[in-house]
Amino acid sequence: MKVWMNGELVDKQDAKISVFDHCLLYGDGVFEGIRIYNDTIFQCAAHMDRLLASAEAIRLEVPFSREQITDAMYQTLRANGLSDGYIRLLVTRGPGTLGLDLDKCSAGAVIIIADTIALYPGEMYENGLEVIIAERRRISADMLPPAVKSCNYLNNILAKAEATDARAGEAIMLNAEGQVAEASGDNVFLVKGGTVFTPPPGAGILIGVTRRVVVGLCGKLGIPLEEQPISVAELRSAEEVFLTGTAAEVIAVTKVDGQSIGSGKAGPVTRKLLEAFRRFIRDECGG
Ligand code: PMP
Repeated sequence: MKVWMNGELVDKQDAKISVFDHCLLYGDGVFEGIRIYNDTIFQCAAHMDRLLASAEAIRLEVPFSREQITDAMYQTLRANGLSDGYIRLLVTRGPGTLGLDLDKCSAGAVIIIADTIALYPGEMYENGLEVIIAERRRISADMLPPAVKSCNYLNNILAKAEATDARAGEAIMLNAEGQVAEASGDNVFLVKGGTVFTPPPGAGILIGVTRRVVVGLCGKLGIPLEEQPISVAELRSAEEVFLTGTAAEVIAVTKVDGQSIGSGKAGPVTRKLLEAFRRFIRDECGG
């Protein structure tokens, strides 16, 4: 495997960063998870926009342009012979002192790793995923904005560990007000009375690239959609619940804390949106 690092393609075993890089010491950096379908980077501009916005929010200068990074992602795909898969793009703060001062860090690394992707099994898109509601709350915007995709993912990792402990596939995280925010690695939607609801950015979420596409698809399909705060009771009593994310695409949730949602199978709106999402991928990426 070849990894792209700061302008060079290097062998996996040579892709190394300093132990003084603040990305290692403090999780100080930003990243993106991106899908490749049919030799094409899906929603490339949206991922680049989010990466650059995340970097700006943490005062991180990205030492390559958007065009250079896009070009480098394609180079990395070609070097690894990948037509379909996943790209992890990250920008580290760079090596510094053992203190927190970011001004003492020298230029960070831009790293591109391209690999195949482990997907949820196909039957899960029919039968749905079981989730729990995590005890651990999502960090608030006045702590570190959840809209920033930073390399410090402990908040989500610990919520996901609660799901694993409960043998569930995902954990739904609530915000400090106790409303539904998002899953540990996906955005949350519910369906009630033919309308799709999803928490607004103000609920403390990462604004998913997949979420944005799905919101657009609701508009195109004439499915009413409301971005509004969602309570736990509303989630539990929804007719359908589904998650969206780069890896998961659009996946039904059929149990919350062991209690069935709707029919216990992927519901009609979720299926329609998954189908429309897959069509959208084909329209954008071909294949
Ligand atoms: N929320 C969180 C916390 C995430 O980590 C992710 C990405 N894995 C998402 C939502 C979904 O975002 P996207 O659709 O851009 O993958």
